[in-house]
Amino acid sequence: MQLTPELKAQMAEQKKQCVYCKIVAKEIPGKIVFEDSITTGILDIYPAKKGHTVFTLKEHYPIVPLIPAEEFAHFFGLVPQFSKALQSAMVATGVNLFIANGGAAGQSYPHFLGHFFPRDQGDGFFNFLFKLGKSLEVEKVNVVQRQLLGLMQNYFAKNPQAWHTGSEEIPSFLQHIEKEAPVLYQDEKILCVLPQKSAVPGHIEVYSKMEEKDIAKLSQEGSTHLFFVASFAASALFDGLGAQGTNIILKSGFSDDNPEGKLCVHVLPRFPGDVLQGMLWQPKQPEYNLDDIAAKIKDKMWNVKYKAVKRETVVEKKHALQPALPSKEEKTSRSNSEEEIDAAIQKIIR
Ligand SMILES: [Zn+2]
Repeated sequence: MQLTPELKAQMAEQKKQCVYCKIVAKEIPGKIVFEDSITTGILDIYPAKKGHTVFTLKEHYPIVPLIPAEEFAHFFGLVPQFSKALQSAMVATGVNLFIANGGAAGQSYPHFLGHFFPRDQGDGFFNFLFKLGKSLEVEKVNVVQRQLLGLMQNYFAKNPQAWHTGSEEIPSFLQHIEKEAPVLYQDEKILCVLPQKSAVPGHIEVYSKMEEKDIAKLSQEGSTHLFFVASFAASALFDGLGAQGTNIILKSGFSDDNPEGKLCVHVLPRFPGDVLQGMLWQPKQPEYNLDDIAAKIKDKMWNVKYKAVKRETVVEKKHALQPALPSKEEKTSRSNSEEEIDAAIQKIIR
């Protein structure tokens, strides 16, 4: 999104007071388990689960839509490696990544944070077991879809190397999902749907066509693309539904609130006082030794490394994105909708 001078000044002001900026700069102590030039991993001292680790960017960005493309690709490209290392350190069967954009979504610091929880079956954590209710009205489905496709087309126009073809092939493990739910977007790697039964109207699910269950098996590029679509879906909810916050929640592998062990990124629109308040955990001091856990995790992080990406060759644009993108005549309304989305997002970080 466009950063206005006003927004830049506001972020600079936030940065001076920001606890996480001070932890990554080592001005105040933190239990750092991983570090490279872009990201830092810090063991949470008030964990929701044993091994709860926060991965963040060294630079100060309040929410996901404000993260520049290269840092976005770096961070989200490392998600499979972070997950693998955490699961291995904690001998876990699954992992969650929880992201809150905005106070209404449970964000308490204005610095982007990715909360990773190692997960197990029988771990008694049911926070992300969504009570499924109503789905979104058809007219609103169309609004959200238009926003999402407009954002993606605009991005591909500026970044042709990131283009994805619109292959309609659906792997067998996603066929029932594609049949039951309106498809918002798909390409050869991603299926993005609005499920019939959802946690809240506007709940979007983003699936990888490359991997059924385990985020750790996705490639760096596969993971970046999965979260790239999820992030655009979240942006589409701000303006499309007037959401005051969004959550992006990865479920991967088996846990009490993911009994089938499926890999899926859930994108949720949030409003103050909505039915999703129970997702958040209460900060509490653990009874075990945090330094022991930090040492275990650090031990598995030694070979986590971002591989610099060669620019992909531009794929000939003979395939249409599925479903079809808005036509040329709608170009003006698309750029208007981009501006509207920027305005809606700016409201939540003030
Ligand atoms: Zn900060």
